[in-house]
Amino acid sequence: MGVDGVRFDFLGPDSAPSIWALGQAGFLARVPVDEATPTWSGPCWATIATGTGVAGHGITGNDLTGHRLAEHPDFVTRATWAGLPTLLAVSGWPPLALAEDGGPLFAEASTREFTAVPRTGLVWDAAREASREEGLTAWDAADEAITARAAAILAGQAPRVSFVYLGAVDFAGHATGSGTAYNQGQSLRPSDPYSTRAVEIMSVADFEKGRSVNEQVTTPIGGLSTKTRAVLRGDSGFGHNLLTNVVTPTTPGGLTGARTALRRDPLSILVTASRRADTLRYVGEDVVDGEKNDVVTFADADGTQITLYVGARTGLLSKYETIADNPVLGDTVTETKLSDYRPVGGVQSPFRVVTRVGGQVTQDVKYSDVKVNASPEASLYEPPAAAPQVTPLPGPTTVAVTKIADDVFLLAGSSHNSLLVTFPDHSLLVEAPLSDERTQAVMAKIKEIAPGKPVRYVVMTHYHFDHSGGLRGWIAQGATIVTTPGNKAFVEQVAAAKHTIRPDDLSRAPKAAVVETYTGKRAFTVGDRTVELYDVGPNPHVAEMTVAYLPKEKTLFVADLFSIPAEGPIAPASTNTRQFAEKVQALGLQVDKIAPAHGRIGSMDELKQVVSAK
Ligand SMILES: [Zn+2]
Ligand SMILES: [Zn+2]
Repeated sequence: MGVDGVRFDFLGPDSAPSIWALGQAGFLARVPVDEATPTWSGPCWATIATGTGVAGHGITGNDLTGHRLAEHPDFVTRATWAGLPTLLAVSGWPPLALAEDGGPLFAEASTREFTAVPRTGLVWDAAREASREEGLTAWDAADEAITARAAAILAGQAPRVSFVYLGAVDFAGHATGSGTAYNQGQSLRPSDPYSTRAVEIMSVADFEKGRSVNEQVTTPIGGLSTKTRAVLRGDSGFGHNLLTNVVTPTTPGGLTGARTALRRDPLSILVTASRRADTLRYVGEDVVDGEKNDVVTFADADGTQITLYVGARTGLLSKYETIADNPVLGDTVTETKLSDYRPVGGVQSPFRVVTRVGGQVTQDVKYSDVKVNASPEASLYEPPAAAPQVTPLPGPTTVAVTKIADDVFLLAGSSHNSLLVTFPDHSLLVEAPLSDERTQAVMAKIKEIAPGKPVRYVVMTHYHFDHSGGLRGWIAQGATIVTTPGNKAFVEQVAAAKHTIRPDDLSRAPKAAVVETYTGKRAFTVGDRTVELYDVGPNPHVAEMTVAYLPKEKTLFVADLFSIPAEGPIAPASTNTRQFAEKVQALGLQVDKIAPAHGRIGSMDELKQVVSAK
């Protein structure tokens, strides 16, 4: 089975369950093509089908003319020659199956099926706005038809060797852009290189009217594929989940971020700098990739310092840097590097954009098509009609308290929750997420609901940056940070990070973090109240993951492995959710209520339902 243009890491149990199941029944192996094979469909499929490289089959592009397939026949042809019943089923791309463009690559098969895609749909025509949608529709239809045809033949004639080719994924890749996102602060272990995920991106920026559209398709590790659209239209905006059709208005913080991104888009940043000409300063020369660059800085509208590097020979912007506070890393430089400039509509546009945060690559995008002055239809910025709307989550300073049981509270209200358990003279807090802003708001709320019971222990569920960004405020208060051994060095680094741009309590009165680690299980008991911590890792999400269990209250606090949205349906079970449910059972925990780090309080029944749903 061949899916052209698909990333191997998209073929997981959650994102492509049927292909995954096929692979489990037989095998799904990563077979690299050698370096001499250009990453074009023609040479790659020829290498896979013949088992020889370019030097053997002689195919270097998508026109197969001049091939040496007679000397190096494909595997379907060889099986046919050996007298086996064979099937070749190809969607859309002629030279694989037909005598077109130097084809067919597959010379012989006892059964040959081909579904055509109209010539206009074969190639993404950048000049025609509608050709992307038309092409995608045509390719999807061709793939579905050939799949149905192949399934019928496989069930009836039982060919011994078959090859089925699908092309819609490749078309979608050419019509937009694709790249790799590196998940900063989201790896399995704090010291691991950033885990990566493939992303497909389509973005539209209307600098004049302050509008933008960003469409992204990606699959988080151990999670489910997401397809989202974020739209900014002047002073409002919304997010559209293209899989569930749910629309969420953009928060004030989100609007500020989207406007900032538009001002600092690679295609508009020089205009932004020219509008801030009074703040421009020449700071000298530097070398970027062996080339002399002139360096200038300016202050953006929000005060952020931006440094521009302009190639002395090319006159092109080679990179720009901003410095801002990161709750975990401290003062952090973000570098945006631009390369592969090509002329588009009379201007030079970078086709490759690599982002580094704190020196580490966080995104690497290669654009396959860039258009200027495209004037897309106004409907692009409109929310879909009749889509269900949910309210956006309030910002980090909103703390909503829900009493779960006596002395047990869920501190929610924003995107990330914490669990507070109070004892006679102190408290224990599970989770210090987001940022110092969140921690200050949580601290104020705890003073209200548990006066005279200062937080003595702060338990981390896992080190991921969004779940540990609020640790510093608690370290400054002298609380003991409780976690698993793999996170000790990380917490010490968080405590030592420099925060000069946005000073906090810990940078004003620095001190080392007090870290207490446990392995397997740790219990805190005062009187008849017990909090048990269990490390339920490793899982695809993270190597070490703590959950907090209250045996008397039959309540479990869990982060990321299972989330319950405040509104709307719970997502289908991911690998993480299934493994978590199994672990709860294996540990023999008696659970009624589940308090998640994201969303509302739910029940064990809801977890069971999600896991058992097909
Ligand atoms: Zn996480
Ligand atoms: Zn999370």
